[in-house]
Amino acid sequence: MIIMNHKKSEDLFAKAKTIIPGGVNSPVRAFKAVGCNPVFIEKAAGSKIYDADGNEYIDYVGSWGPMILGHCHPKVVEAIQTTAANGASFGAPTAMGTELAQLVNQAYPNIEKVRMVSSGTEATMSAIRLARGFTGRDKILKFDGCYHGHADSLLVKAGSGAATFGVPTSPGVPADFAKYTLTAIYNDLEDVKSIIAANKGEVACIILEAIAGNMGCVPPVAGFLQGLRDLCTKEGILLIIDEVMTGFRVAYGGAQERYGVRGDLVCLGKIIGGGLPVGAFGGKSEIMESLSPEGGIYQAGTLSGNPLAMSAGIATLKLLQEEGFYQQIEEKSAYLEKGLQQVTSSSSVATCWQRVGGMFCTFFQNGPVNNFDDALKSDTEAFGRYFRSMLDQGINLAPAQFEAGFMSIAHSQEDLDKTIAAVEKALTAV
Ligand SMILES: *Cc1c(COP(=O)(O)O)cnc(C)c1O
Repeated sequence: MIIMNHKKSEDLFAKAKTIIPGGVNSPVRAFKAVGCNPVFIEKAAGSKIYDADGNEYIDYVGSWGPMILGHCHPKVVEAIQTTAANGASFGAPTAMGTELAQLVNQAYPNIEKVRMVSSGTEATMSAIRLARGFTGRDKILKFDGCYHGHADSLLVKAGSGAATFGVPTSPGVPADFAKYTLTAIYNDLEDVKSIIAANKGEVACIILEAIAGNMGCVPPVAGFLQGLRDLCTKEGILLIIDEVMTGFRVAYGGAQERYGVRGDLVCLGKIIGGGLPVGAFGGKSEIMESLSPEGGIYQAGTLSGNPLAMSAGIATLKLLQEEGFYQQIEEKSAYLEKGLQQVTSSSSVATCWQRVGGMFCTFFQNGPVNNFDDALKSDTEAFGRYFRSMLDQGINLAPAQFEAGFMSIAHSQEDLDKTIAAVEKALTAV
């Protein structure tokens, strides 16, 4: 039951559906998994987002991760405006591209060289081509429930959006492509070892989210990442750590800094563009040098290293370097966690909260959730009722069970207390 007035959003959605498939430019935005229609957003500021009907929400989507500073940080807005006044795109190198690359290298020392692209999908797709070209092997291994964008070879058992719609593999992905993609159970090193043994000398790379954020929030179990690192080194397989979501999110140096395990190649996106379309992939020089024009492995992009995206990214990363930034994100998230655990423990609804730094998820089940099969045991109908109640109370959550929520530095004590009170109420509606 939604009491809030969504009339303008309803009208805009009806109009959009006549001309855009499903009325949206990315499937999960359609709210199909939560049994209501999407709200159309007009603007945002700080921790708040506003819909077309003028309703205000405390936002935990943060554009699906990038907005760790909150929306419209004045320094980021200023950087974009200043850059725009000098030209939005040149299709030529700029000093800003090198500056952002240097900032990335300082935070991720294993990224000795990096190339900018325009989305996370492009980053993972290109990293995989590079891994295949570099090793001369065709097969790749990914994990059930890990999402790495929508490139053909990666759209196999891909979590969130795909899980939400019950389409584990999309039509349009030729079986001949998918057969080069091996899938293993997340957090199950023995499963990986047996798959690698059965495909000895044929696997180019293992790609994973070092904290899975596209099946909710699923941290790596002790020894999993190091076990993969050792296995890859032993078998001549490149380890690709997809930090599109976790990079500059769970620490300035991402999941790799937090867990002390380093990839041969790393994918970034989301936060490094400060809300503009961006992605990046990088790694050891000897691998990156195989990329065109230094080497023969082709990869290119008209808008790659786009000045607006570079300036927003540089401004964002500089702000993240401020003393105590990640400590504050941690404290806000821990406060929310404590409050939620209090209200959920006194409710009869089964829930399981999982969190790493400023990314988190409430699974509607007892948990713990260590892999995709575990995640699928959640009560998605209950999640839908919870989501609708939260929305109605002015809290914007990701509209599907298998998504993470994100804390920003702009979330205030008042925001967090309101959220905890809203959860308490929403649980009575579940
Ligand atoms: C969001 C995401 C991607 C895809 O990035 P896009 O910019 O949406 O193409 C890839 N990998 C991970 C881990 C992500 O969270």
